[in-house]
Amino acid sequence: MKIAVIGGGVVGLSTAVALLRQGIDVQCYEAGEPMGERSAGDTRIFRLAHAFPDMVELAARSRTLFAEWSELAGTPLVEDVGTVVSGAHAAEWATAMATAGAAHEVVEAGSPLLRLPARDFSGPALIDPAGGVIRVDRIRTFLVGAIGTRLRPAHVDAVEETPSGVRVTAGPDASTFDAAVICAGEGTSALIDIPSALEHHLRVSYPIRPGAPEPFQCWITKPADGELGTYQHLAAPGTWAVGGDVDSSLVSWAGGREAAEQASLELLTAYVSEHLPFVEPRPIARVHCTHNPDLEDGLHFVRRGRVLATYGENLMKFAPLLGATLAQAAADGSTPANAGPPRHEATA
Ligand SMILES: Cc1cc2nc3c(=O)[nH]c(=O)nc-3n(C[C@H](O)[C@H](O)[C@H](O)COP(=O)(O)OP(=O)(O)OC[C@H]3O[C@@H](n4cnc5c(N)ncnc54)[C@H](O)[C@@H]3O)c2cc1C
Repeated sequence: MKIAVIGGGVVGLSTAVALLRQGIDVQCYEAGEPMGERSAGDTRIFRLAHAFPDMVELAARSRTLFAEWSELAGTPLVEDVGTVVSGAHAAEWATAMATAGAAHEVVEAGSPLLRLPARDFSGPALIDPAGGVIRVDRIRTFLVGAIGTRLRPAHVDAVEETPSGVRVTAGPDASTFDAAVICAGEGTSALIDIPSALEHHLRVSYPIRPGAPEPFQCWITKPADGELGTYQHLAAPGTWAVGGDVDSSLVSWAGGREAAEQASLELLTAYVSEHLPFVEPRPIARVHCTHNPDLEDGLHFVRRGRVLATYGENLMKFAPLLGATLAQAAADGSTPANAGPPRHEATA
């Protein structure tokens, strides 16, 4: 078989590498730098903790596959520091973990089990011991090395079914494949019909004050009282990365990237200044990305004939699982089941 993968982000590269391992002839089209768009930056949070038991189970499978990748890469791709979810959603997420049979613990603020940069937060804290820091920098090296010459630097203009196969057009070139998988992130909706709303998002890194204890756990805060919800974790050594659920009106697509980044930077820095005494409120690095405000945590698959596409939010933690799943489905013509919030069930 000959299969095209459109997009060389973490999902596309994982899929292309899984196809290669099945002995399938694959071309992975990437318009820019591999893992240079939504997969940019050095770290992300891994967590089993989700609102839905099926997502917890899938994350557990992905964690096992990350361990296999780490063996192959010769370096840990997820640092085992654990993840903590505090505030409004902690109890609901704990129930989903219990239903899925995942190890977890619910504690109150001030528990000695918490190694967070702040202890004054509301509500219980859900400890997810299988969570940790995903080393995106190491994953990039691993996947780019594994894909080798099968990475094709080209922007795909169209993916069309023809009687002889799937035609992929990139500028003046057109090639025909037995099947195609679209994993183009922000570019997917231009190639196949999926929800296309977009917002800007910013994660900012701050220096950890000298002498502060390391390592910290990853931390997801979900306060109920209108305060900024955040995700936070150790990024590069000595730096603490913080992203936030900034009000949609401040980060809208129409408002533009510059205004969205500025508003996010101000809110995140004010949050750090008020709540994180171990961190200097001095921004030293940032990662911008786009996301779909209508999607929560969930995995979505669409098939149109021999063309399969996937989309969703927070996909880094599912990369090895998505790669294996998409490779299998592309080869056998099946459509993987959606997972997560029921209202996002497939319409295809
Ligand atoms: C700041 C930030 C924090 C995040 N936190 C987490 C987290 O804690 N945990 C987690 O699991 N996830 C997290 N995520 C989300 C996660 O990083 C993304 O969901 C994931 O990287 C998406 O990968 P992707 O391959 O789908 O998309 P991308 O990385 O965007 O890859 C798509 C690729 O397709 C290419 N492309 C697009 N159109 C075309 C075309 N027409 N032709 C050829 N190539 C094309 C693009 O150049 C791009 O490289 C975070 C993301 C950001 C930015």
